[in-house]
Amino acid sequence: MRIDLHTHSTVSDGTQAPADVMRAAAQARLDVVALTDHDSVDGWDEARDTAAGLGLAFVPGIEVSCRHQGISIHLLSYWHDPASDEVAAMLGKTRHARVDRAREIVARVSRDFPLTWDDVVAAGPDAVTLGRPHIADAMVARGHFATRDDAFASVLAGNSRYYVPHYAPEVNDAIRTMALAGGVTVFAHPGADARGRVVPTSVIEEMAGAGLVGLEVDHRDHSAPQRERLSGIAERLGLVRTGASDYHGAGKPNRLGENTTPVEAYRRLEGARP
Ligand code: AMP
Ligand code: ZN
Ligand code: FE
Ligand code: FE
Repeated sequence: MRIDLHTHSTVSDGTQAPADVMRAAAQARLDVVALTDHDSVDGWDEARDTAAGLGLAFVPGIEVSCRHQGISIHLLSYWHDPASDEVAAMLGKTRHARVDRAREIVARVSRDFPLTWDDVVAAGPDAVTLGRPHIADAMVARGHFATRDDAFASVLAGNSRYYVPHYAPEVNDAIRTMALAGGVTVFAHPGADARGRVVPTSVIEEMAGAGLVGLEVDHRDHSAPQRERLSGIAERLGLVRTGASDYHGAGKPNRLGENTTPVEAYRRLEGARP
């Protein structure tokens, strides 16, 4: 069984439509795949329909933008009720804030580089959730950078003078909100320190207390020592150790199935559904 529980489509910052992500997953010989777009579930229906036709088991998921004491945290949730008013309100607030924030980043960048808001909209025509990757793509289209990665290494970096943060819910509130809606939560790439600050172990303990179910230990942004440390924490706190690709199509080098979740771990996630 090959199980990949973290992928993105054009609903957020992936480069393939949800149906195409499912086709790519079948081609990568996955048996189980989750679609986990940032802050939106709009890809679920299309992905579910396509996966069914391919004999692929589809897991409905999301990657919720969260914060804790100023540090950005990504929280994966699986199987929650997409119609929950509390979940919809939380995500709607974040998506709205992301648009205001993207406009502000574009305003700052456009003082130094020719770039308009229309360029960004054109870079993510299907995006329900806008992010820095769309601004990166717009700058690539304008010829300012060769790749998304180059844009992120420069003007879009978290420590750049063009950077603007956006509202995101407190992570322990988000864990409880998702759990009340039937979701099973996993802390995404908890040790990915190359892209920004990460939280100390004490915060993972708090999250476990709030109902967190798993830790995404096996992810390309984690070194071997980080995986060792995180798997020790997972074991001690009774959290499920997961692994996934964080596939973004052509937007990132991450390939489907490059990290996977063992079937026993997957069964534990299923068993944690409230
Ligand atoms: P945002 O949520 O708008 O702050 O943008 C962060 C998103 O950008 C994350 O989902 C990452 O997957 C993506 N990202 C971060 N760094 C890079 C990079 N170097 N190249 C491509 N995508 C990136
Ligand atoms: Zn992303
Ligand atoms: Fe993430
Ligand atoms: Fe992701």
